Formats: sequence, C-alpha cells, structure tokens
Amino acid sequence: MRKAKSTSPFALIGGSMGFKLLRDSGSRLKPFGRIQTPFGPSQAVHLLEDSGVLYMSRHGEKSYEVSAPFVNYRANIWALKELGVERIVSWSGPAAMDESFQIGQILVPADLIDETRQRKQTFFERLGLGFIRQSPTFCPHLSSALEAVCRKRIGECRSDAVYVCTEGPRLETAAEIRKFRVFGGHLVGMTLVPEAFLAKELEMCYAPLCYVTNYAEGVRPREFRPGVLFEGLLDDSEQRVVDEAIAALPDIAMAAFSALSGQPRECSCGQAMERYRRRGDIGDDWRSWITTGADH
Ligand SMILES: [Zn+2]
Repeated sequence: MRKAKSTSPFALIGGSMGFKLLRDSGSRLKPFGRIQTPFGPSQAVHLLEDSGVLYMSRHGEKSYEVSAPFVNYRANIWALKELGVERIVSWSGPAAMDESFQIGQILVPADLIDETRQRKQTFFERLGLGFIRQSPTFCPHLSSALEAVCRKRIGECRSDAVYVCTEGPRLETAAEIRKFRVFGGHLVGMTLVPEAFLAKELEMCYAPLCYVTNYAEGVRPREFRPGVLFEGLLDDSEQRVVDEAIAALPDIAMAAFSALSGQPRECSCGQAMERYRRRGDIGDDWRSWITTGADH
C-alpha cells in the first residue's frame, strides 16, 4: 500500500482479463500498488509507460478475484482522482438483450439504467450534497473520441445502446431480461454502477467501452452445460470472437486518449459540483468534500 505520488490525466479501468492481456503484450508497466483511501485500499494501479495512461483492474489482477457487487468502487475512483486522473475509460463485457447485436461487437453505450441494490452509490453520505444531473450520463467528449477510433478501426461503432446494470453476481432470469427490454435496455452487465456516478461526483469524465460477451438469458435457446463459463450461455466459437474483441480494447482506449491529449475538456463534467462551490458548501480541495462526512 502506498500514498499516491505520480499523476496522469487518463485512466483505463479494465475487466478481469485486462491486466494479463497488457502484461503478455509486452506493455511496460510501472506499478503504483494499491492506493490508500478513506474507503480502504483501491485496486492496484499501474502506469503504462509507453502511453502515460494509468491502468486499474476492477476485479483484481490474477483473475476474477472480486465480483462486481463487492468491488470497492469508491476506493477505486478516489484513487484515480488522487493520481490526477481527469478522464476514465471503463471497459466491460455486457450481454446483449436482442439479436441486433453481434457477439464480440465493440461499442460505446449511450446511457445507463441502474438495477443494482446494495452498492455504496455516493461519496456524499450525510453531507447534503449530490443532486447532480445525470444527463449526459457519460462524457460526450470522451465517448465521441472512443466512437471515432472504433469507426476508423472497425468500420462501425454503435452508440445508441442503453446498458442495464444489475447487482449480480448471479446472472439475470429470462423474465428479468424481458422486463429490461421493456424498460428500453439493450445491454446487461454488472459493472458501470456506481463507477459512472462516482466519477461524476468527483467531476471526472467517464465513458464506457464495451464488447458484447454473449446473448442474455432467453434471447437464444441454449442448453445448460455444467462446468463451463455461464453454464452454456456462450459457445466455444463465440468465446474466440470475444477474446479477439477484448484484445482490441486497450489500443482503442489508448488511441482515444492520444486524440484528447492536450485538449481542454469541452464538456460539463468538470462542473458537476459547481452549484455547491458557488454556495460555499465546498472548497477547492475535493478531498474535503468527502472526508468530513464519509462513513468509512
Ligand atoms: Zn467530460
């Protein structure tokens, strides 16, 4: 564990395979270890030395060590803020709830529906802060940069999908998937909430970069296959396509960061707390917004 020393304006939060992928690809990684925060230690952070981007494995670096409901999202977002991050790309692999999506398709979701149930959603416990507008949900500037890279490299990038975030770690029932479709959802996963909301509370830009892992329950008939991932919801040929998509994600994120390097933020993300600043409720040091009232 260590106190933060270095800074970077960009961070990539990766899924369970991300760290192994980067390490095996020969990326030069400078470890910062876990960052101590008022909410406990964050996941370990590395500096990708070739790009100057910080990388954090949301679920741990060896495998899927921490499942989505038990990730310490507040510690992770605090740590990235402490390290000077202004823009976060968050990678995840949701399921598609209809067949207009392809397995392995890479896309940038448009919006979010929160169906989580027991996660710590805010930094502002007992402080009277936090009535923050959620439109746009994701940073439009960062999302546009990701979409531009995807279109250039893949030829298309769907940007209209609504991601439904469930609690997990169980998968959804077929009836729940039907309900989420009625709600206007297209993708279902477990990781963007409360990450996106916490990043906004600390005035950071946040955009998701997703690949479709599988079709959600009930979209296609699938036999129960004991002993394999998702018990048969994903077949072997689909797994290969998914692996190829995952391998493409880091480069897409890095290219988007590169395109934004040196550009001022043209979005409203950096002013999410302006009302409270003008009222004199909060000062310039963001740490003071939180530690005075947080229930650790
Ligand atoms: Zn922004």
